[in-house]
Amino acid sequence: MDDGLGPVMPDAIFTALDPFSINRSFMSVLPIKNCLDPVLRKKCDLIQNINQNLVDLSADMIETMYNARGVGLAANQVGVSSRLIIVDLGFDGEKHDPLIIVNPVITASEEEVLGQEGCLSIPEVFADVKRFKRVEVKGVDLDGKDIRLEADDFLARAFQHEMDHLEGKLFWDMLGKVKRDMLKRKFKKILKEAQE
Ligand SMILES: [Zn+2]
Repeated sequence: MDDGLGPVMPDAIFTALDPFSINRSFMSVLPIKNCLDPVLRKKCDLIQNINQNLVDLSADMIETMYNARGVGLAANQVGVSSRLIIVDLGFDGEKHDPLIIVNPVITASEEEVLGQEGCLSIPEVFADVKRFKRVEVKGVDLDGKDIRLEADDFLARAFQHEMDHLEGKLFWDMLGKVKRDMLKRKFKKILKEAQE
């Protein structure tokens, strides 16, 4: 039994993270920073301690990601400059299976492919971005255990996108200047319209 003081078991975390579970009242939807916020341009810090704050942050990030109908979120997108990412491709389905990775690194990659990408920090703007088709990702989970994942296609893309965030990079940095400036203008126009 978890009284909130002892170590949290992975199953308990995943139950609590199920957005359809009654436990969702413990989580909050956090405001997502947009691409003009300097926190998204700063390289995130390595996480030294996995503590309850980090577990709570992960739960809030997952709630925030599902609420925004995203498939991934990096901690700096909610203003925390730490190396933590969340990815879940199952946002549309019944089954939620969020992956939480602390201090993720890409340890192998192969073959490049072009595919469409968007970002919760740059709403309504999409572009084709070249990424590795397959990646191996290593990191640790919320229990501090080593994890190693192999991902391909869209999951591989999601990992690369989120891990770029941790480096202070945005997906349009991968594009040529003309295309990037066009997308920036589009984003600013959308932002202005939303504020009117
Ligand atoms: Zn993004």
